[in-house]
This record gives sequence, structure tokens and C-alpha cells, in this order.
Amino acid sequence: MKVLILGVNGFIGSHLSHRILTDTDWEVYGMDLGDNKLTGVIGNSRFNFIEGDISINKEWIEYHIKKCDVVLPLVAIATPKTYIEDPLGVFELDFEENLNIVRQCVKYNKRIIFPSTSEVYGMCADQAFEEDTSHLILGPIRKQRWIYSCSKQLLDRVIWAYGERHGLDFTLIRPFNWIGPRLDSLETAKEGSSRVVTQFIASLVFTQPIVLVDGGRQSRSFTYIDDGIDAVMKIIRNENSIATGQIFNLGNPANNCSIEELAHKLLDMFKSHPAHRLDDAYSEIIIQDADSFYGESYQDIYTRVPSIKKAKEILGWEPRVGLDDALKKTLEAFLEEVSRGNG
Ligand code: UDP
Repeated sequence: MKVLILGVNGFIGSHLSHRILTDTDWEVYGMDLGDNKLTGVIGNSRFNFIEGDISINKEWIEYHIKKCDVVLPLVAIATPKTYIEDPLGVFELDFEENLNIVRQCVKYNKRIIFPSTSEVYGMCADQAFEEDTSHLILGPIRKQRWIYSCSKQLLDRVIWAYGERHGLDFTLIRPFNWIGPRLDSLETAKEGSSRVVTQFIASLVFTQPIVLVDGGRQSRSFTYIDDGIDAVMKIIRNENSIATGQIFNLGNPANNCSIEELAHKLLDMFKSHPAHRLDDAYSEIIIQDADSFYGESYQDIYTRVPSIKKAKEILGWEPRVGLDDALKKTLEAFLEEVSRGNG
């Protein structure tokens, strides 16, 4: 099988490439702006990498969509701070550029596995979000935080319609706060614009305050990357077309945890880490209101728990890595990176 991964140097793309090359005889064709996360993958004869930009290198992309069996367009901005700071950039990249890819998959009759997001459920009040029945609830237009959710939702609907009307072979996946090594760079976190786990780890490493937005009572279901990749592998294999035309939540409801609890867990893990046990000082945990942290066009999501019934029944998938383990592995990987001087 030939797998095309756009955004191959990203968090999911790099882990997925590694897994494919380790566990299968498939070939990977990948494009990204850089290759810093692809150590151990670059150099493999079944890994074909090109440095490029999906908004520029369109001929390469079209040629490889024709050539490959399955396409994973993983290029997207997925950090809430950017939804506020650059809403049009999010729309142009996450929606417009990806729409072109979707249309080419229709044109060349190729299977597409598209990363939707847990963010599409927005402020849905269900205790556990269901792929096929939960309502997708977003805030007012002036709250630009929702431009990402809305862009992804519209693509979900477009892909679904291409499936119904033109026979597009697709699967939509909805990752719920996946975490693990290579999540984001600590450098971006230094500027305060990363996802929460990287942000907190960066605060610990640079002994800056850990900020609980609005007190940190909001919660997320953190999911370890290896578990997520297990599901994606089953979806790529797609035995008996089980995943075709389906949407799957890929998250770990057992790892649901408040942001406040997350901060304390990471602080405790950091304090007891051999390299930091004897530090002079540690980050303090402070509270800041959302308007001053993100800006007025932010609106938070208070609960986000997936129902994974469908993934269990159809894919025979279940996440296995508990929260403490997932956080330890993530923290450990970042600290190793810092000690190698790449932090
Ligand atoms: N958050 C926080 N402090 C930070 C960064 C984020 O309290 O330094 C909160 C944020 O308000 C949200 C949650 O952590 O409720 C998760 O944020 P993240 O950026 O990881 O993305 P999301 O899950 O909202 O897409």
C-alpha cells in the first residue's frame, strides 16, 4: 500500500510514519515544511519525503494523490491561541487548502482519511459526545475561537456529501486531546501559544508560572498518541471496508481530567524527576481570566468527553494508556529533548 501523508512532520504524521514503517511493508510519501520530527524515519527506503508547502507545491501533491492508495491530509493549525490571533490563516489553511485535497481525492477516486476534531462538538452538553447524534454547538461569530471548529465541521459535511453523491471513500477521525512526545515545540510554548500540556511543561522547564485559565475547572480527555495511532492503523487497513463512510471519536474517556488537576500532576511529576528533584525553585500555579490570557474572542469548552462505543464496536479499538503514564511519557520526552539542547 502507498500512503500519502501531508503534514508528515507534525505530531500525528511523524508518529504514524514511524508506526507504518515499523509494522508494515507499506510505502509512505510525505510532504512538510521541515523534517525535524522525522529522525529515525528519514533514510528508510520506504519513506519518500519532500520539503514543501501544500499551498505551493500543488503539482507534487496532485501527482502523488494519483499515485497513492490512501491520503491523509494532516496539515492544519490546531492551537486555540492561533484561532484568535489569525482566524483567516486558520480558514485558508485548514479549510481552503484541504478542500482542494478533498476534491482531488474525489477526482482520482482515492480513499481519504480526514482529521476532523473533537472541537466540532463545541459546547455540546452531552455527557459523552456521539459521532452520529450529538449536536455541534458553537458560539457567536465575534468569538473567533470557533473558526477552526466551523471550518472542520464544514469540511466534514462536504466530505460526507462527496461520499453520498460521488462515492468518495472516506473516514473522518476526531482526536480528543492527543498527547505524547513531539506534541508541540517548547519554543512556541515559550511565547504562550501552545496546547495546554506543552504549555505547562514549558512553564515547568523555564520556571514560569503555570496559568490556569479561569481557574482550570474545565476538563479534557487526554489520549496517548500510541493509542490514537493504533486506531488510525486499523482505519488505514480498513479490512472489509469497515471504516468507510464512518466518523470515529478517538479519545480516552477514562483519562478525563480538569486542567487544574493536570497542572498539579505535571508539577508533582516534574518535582520528583531525577533531573529536577533538587531544583532551587519551581513554577507556581496561578489563575488568569480567559479574556486577558487569550483575548476577548475566546470562549472555552468546559467538558469534552468522547463516547468511544463506535470505535470499540466497529474497529475493535480501545485506548490502553492511562493518564499518569501518558503524562509521564510526554514529560520525559520533552525533558530529554531539553537535555539534548533542542528545547
Ligand atoms: N489552558 C490553560 N492554560 C494554558 C493553556 C490552556 O488553562 O496555559 C486551558 C484552556 O483554556 C482550555 C484547556 O486548557 O480549557 C485546553 O486547551 P488547549 O489549548 O490544549 O486546547 P483545546 O483542548 O481547548 O482545544
